[in-house]
Amino acid sequence: MTEGTGAPFSGSIMVVGGGISGLTTALEAAEVGYEVFIIEKNPYLGGRVAQLKQYFPKLCPPTCGLEINFQRIKNNRNIHVYTMAEVEKVDGGPGNYTVNIKKHPRYVNENCTCCGACAEACQMEIPNDFNFGMDKMKGAYLPHEMAFPARYVISPQIIGTEDAKRAKEACPYDAIDLEMQPKTFDLTVGSIVWSTGWEPYDPSNLDHLGYGRFSNVITNMMMERLAAPNGPTNGQILRPSDNKAPESVAFVQCAGSRDENHLPYCSYICCMASLKHATYIREQYPDAKIYIFYIDIRMKGFTRASRRMKTLSSSRERSLKSTKARTANR
Ligand SMILES: Cc1cc2nc3c(=O)[nH]c(=O)nc-3n(C[C@H](O)[C@H](O)[C@H](O)COP(=O)(O)OP(=O)(O)OC[C@H]3O[C@@H](n4cnc5c(N)ncnc54)[C@H](O)[C@@H]3O)c2cc1C
Ligand code: SF4
Ligand code: SF4
Repeated sequence: MTEGTGAPFSGSIMVVGGGISGLTTALEAAEVGYEVFIIEKNPYLGGRVAQLKQYFPKLCPPTCGLEINFQRIKNNRNIHVYTMAEVEKVDGGPGNYTVNIKKHPRYVNENCTCCGACAEACQMEIPNDFNFGMDKMKGAYLPHEMAFPARYVISPQIIGTEDAKRAKEACPYDAIDLEMQPKTFDLTVGSIVWSTGWEPYDPSNLDHLGYGRFSNVITNMMMERLAAPNGPTNGQILRPSDNKAPESVAFVQCAGSRDENHLPYCSYICCMASLKHATYIREQYPDAKIYIFYIDIRMKGFTRASRRMKTLSSSRERSLKSTKARTANR
């Protein structure tokens, strides 16, 4: 891997989005000899998978799959990674595209050793987006402990503040450059793969489910972060309202999906995700009541993971068919 510097190449492939789909695409292409450019808007690769506690089918922590891919990327000189970068414009046609890229400043250069002195020096705290705002972090931060590239970021929210100065002064490696500016440059490539993944549907559009009105109503991605050992509660699933153990948990399936007022299609993942989440809860709270309110359960392939989930869900928690379900952790 080389860190992207803007040098143009033709006859090569651009992969936009460095989640698991983009990484797989980039590696497969690079390992058969193509020059590949990964354009990722986050400061790290891995996409949503990096936010999961475990992923099916094997229920491994995301480190398992991602680290192997990061290692392959590191060892492959055909891959050029641009983080904090987005496509501004595409010109040309198949075999010869000119892509204009904008790279946002990280304010931290490759001298960074991840020593953490800059974060210690910061006094302000800002919402932690990686944890969906369920906790706070310093304005100088590593997005998460397995972030790749392993390099700190200075949030634009602290640029121009005393905290930014404190962070710079604290850095023993001269790695912080508060004057870093956005850069735009062109890359010439033969083809482009869009692997920009997905965004969670905005749950505040679902008034009847109470998100935003009741702090114990959370999304399934928030559940992943609550259960993750590197999450806001160090992996303990606690009610956001009072940080106590939940006694009963209801999952509302198809919230915002398969609904002509919201998204008409099936997301194809949340049935499996809720069953997985039931195992997270069962492992921590063997006596908690778990209810899954569904229209129908959609799972392609009955994997070892889903069998394990079914076993763990136990006979006591029968799924109740209801379209009027409300979600609440009591
Ligand atoms: C609650 C929940 C649990 C799940 N559990 C599992 C599981 O256990 N096992 C499993 O296999 N799957 C699971 N999934 C599904 C899994 O998250 C997706 O399959 C996976 O994220 C798809 O990877 P991706 O690379 O296509 O997209 P993403 O992970 O969304 O990655 C897309 C990447 O593209 C970047 N990007 C987006 N737009 C741009 C742009 N314009 N320019 C540059 N970069 C951009 C993003 O920053 C991101 O890094 C779960 C999903 C949910 C909601
Ligand atoms: S930017 Fe400097 S102080 Fe901050 S983690 Fe990197 S090397 Fe350490
Ligand atoms: S059927 Fe299952 S996977 Fe499809 S939208 Fe509903 S909950 Fe999600």
